[in-house]
Amino acid sequence: MILRKKLIAGNWKMNKTGAEALALVQEIATAIGKQPDVEVVICPPFTALASVAPVLDGTLLKLGAQNMHPEAGGAFTGEISAPMLRSFFATHVILGHSERRAYFGETDTFINQKVLSALKNQLRPILCVGETLAERESGSTLKVVQTQTEKGLEGVSKEQAASLIVAYEPVWAIGTGKVATTEQAQEVHAFIRDLLTKLFGEAIAQKVRILYGGSMKPANAPELLAQKDIDGGLIGGAALEARSFIELVKAAAAAK
Ligand code: PEP
Repeated sequence: MILRKKLIAGNWKMNKTGAEALALVQEIATAIGKQPDVEVVICPPFTALASVAPVLDGTLLKLGAQNMHPEAGGAFTGEISAPMLRSFFATHVILGHSERRAYFGETDTFINQKVLSALKNQLRPILCVGETLAERESGSTLKVVQTQTEKGLEGVSKEQAASLIVAYEPVWAIGTGKVATTEQAQEVHAFIRDLLTKLFGEAIAQKVRILYGGSMKPANAPELLAQKDIDGGLIGGAALEARSFIELVKAAAAAK
């Protein structure tokens, strides 16, 4: 049996100025900067990458971004490319978050271009997939997740797939306080693992971390993280406060 190291990633969304980000990351780094049992990724807004990067240097914490453009450069006003993220020592990038899909019209095809560009530039994509409440209620959860996963990963080679991270984030659970039950989450995570097996083979699918995201908090994390196919969490609200984020990392360490 392959043991996957648990991963906790904080998605700060459009929160924290450079100075606020620095204060938060210093508190987190002091508490868990040398935690070897859990991989921890901090994803501040673009504007805080520069202030946060030096604090993470010398710790085990990694830096991620929340989005990027697939092109390396050019006339794309307001956008940021993979090489630019790399220049801030970012190692991870969240792609296809449901807020990007819903508010910025991102399609599976566009997200796929970003995934390919991230991999080409040695950034590990955290590909987000998940159904809306209407889709769950109409019984199409697995179909939606299958389409988003397969289209999002089109053209990814087996070699590249080993560095992928997938996040299952039911849209109805994001920022709502409504968490998926452990059974609901594990069912979809196992389904994603099966899809990855079909796409890339058993050995690689067993290595890919599949995170749960959607109102994960210290109180509900232990039960979720104990599930066979839940390899960590993508954390929104609870990542904005050092105490709750640190508690989540501890929960992941205890669940390993
Ligand atoms: C997210 O936006 O990725 C997320 C999981 O948010 P929250 O934890 O606030 O539900």
